[in-house]
Amino acid sequence: MNNDQIWQAVLGELEIGISRANFITWFKNTFIHKIEDDKVVVSVPNDFAKRWLEQKYYKSIKASLEKITEKKITEVSYQINLQKTETKNDLIEKETKKVEKEEVKPAVGQIKNLNSSGLNPKYSFNSFIVGKANELACAACHAIMKNPGKSYNPLFVYGGVGLGKTHLLQAVGNEFIKMGKRVLYTTSEQFTNNYIDSIKSGKAKEFKNLYRNVDLLLVDDVQFMGGKDGTQEEFFHTFNELQQGDKQVILSSDRAPKAIPAIEKRLISRFESGMVADVGKPDIETKIAILEKKAKEKNYILEEDILKYISNSIQNNIRELEGALNKVIAYHEFHNIKPSIKTVKNVLNDLTNNNQIKPIIPKDIIETVCQFYNINGKDLLGAKRKKELVLPRQISMFLMREELKTSYPTIGEELGGRDHTTAIHSFNKINKEKEENEKLNQDIISIKQLLYGSF
Ligand code: ADP
Ligand code: MG
Repeated sequence: MNNDQIWQAVLGELEIGISRANFITWFKNTFIHKIEDDKVVVSVPNDFAKRWLEQKYYKSIKASLEKITEKKITEVSYQINLQKTETKNDLIEKETKKVEKEEVKPAVGQIKNLNSSGLNPKYSFNSFIVGKANELACAACHAIMKNPGKSYNPLFVYGGVGLGKTHLLQAVGNEFIKMGKRVLYTTSEQFTNNYIDSIKSGKAKEFKNLYRNVDLLLVDDVQFMGGKDGTQEEFFHTFNELQQGDKQVILSSDRAPKAIPAIEKRLISRFESGMVADVGKPDIETKIAILEKKAKEKNYILEEDILKYISNSIQNNIRELEGALNKVIAYHEFHNIKPSIKTVKNVLNDLTNNNQIKPIIPKDIIETVCQFYNINGKDLLGAKRKKELVLPRQISMFLMREELKTSYPTIGEELGGRDHTTAIHSFNKINKEKEENEKLNQDIISIKQLLYGSF
């Protein structure tokens, strides 16, 4: 195995125990820089990721590396933005792999690069298994491909995380590309960022051109437009223009239009004006079919009873199902053994034990906020009124109330014996300010990601 393969296998293992948001936050753009004897150097994109990996994931990364390389690792160090050291093998592989898998490119920056539609070719209908839980959404997509802009416009797909919404949107996008049509895939966050950037840089016209001159606009995760008034306004006009020109729009969200918080009524009515289709959790037959397909894609054969066993063990979503499969394959390939129910059970047990869900308590919030802002817990709870401490303090109180519904007197207690009126004031202040201050809002989102992903 070369370094990339080793790292992919490590990530495959780690991914299972971590929420997707965290996984992406911490492991995006990481790779093994080099392995020298028993020392591994990992490159990370920034200091924040470095600290987090060192503190939170040191043990699991080391253990995983040892398991995969089957040797003792004495040290894993993290450095920022190193180059990959390429072995001869890597170079040969690169040369021969002409048809590279393309990663999803964010629409951010696409004002400069109009060709890129933000699609990942790996998401196709071919690799999408249809079952009861997604057949309506899937049928709507097929109808759209036959009759773009006219049959269901917009199509609004909603459902929980990891149930195939992005896959479906991208699959339609890829089909449209094959038909020679112009496609743009974006997430509502990218749309927002792009919109803000375009205003700042005086490129509002380019922005409009980018989003309005397409045959198909795919907007993933529109729930994040909630509370962003400027973005909603802009999107409303973009949407109207596309719809009036019979250009197709497909949207996804983690909940139904009416359930999106802080979204304008006129947008809800637009979202509902075409077809609304939900995707649900797959039944056991669909799970088995998905596993079989994914295993085949990896050239790995698993017996029916094992597929069934894995399907029964994983309840939540398809992403977790894939994670479990990856782990099963990785484990058996590394040990060069044939999977049996017993060995698979061991691998999956390991997985569920590592992943025990602990309820979050106020102390976790304090700890996470301190880590995020790189401050000392004692200072946070203390009396100093420095600006660097006041905001994190207020955010801690806000999160305790918002996330844990802790009573105000208890929040005061947790924060080093403050008065409950301080807790009320802090909650109200942050609640209001985060609507107006995007940086603060983003900070809070990141802290929440840390909070729920840490184990
Ligand atoms: P969502 O956008 O709903 O969170 P994704 O589209 O990212 O979910 O799906 C998560 C993973 O599960 C992806 O790797 C995707 O390819 C896979 N997946 C989801 N649904 C299916 C399906 N019906 N058939 C095959 N793979 C699927
Ligand atoms: Mg998605």
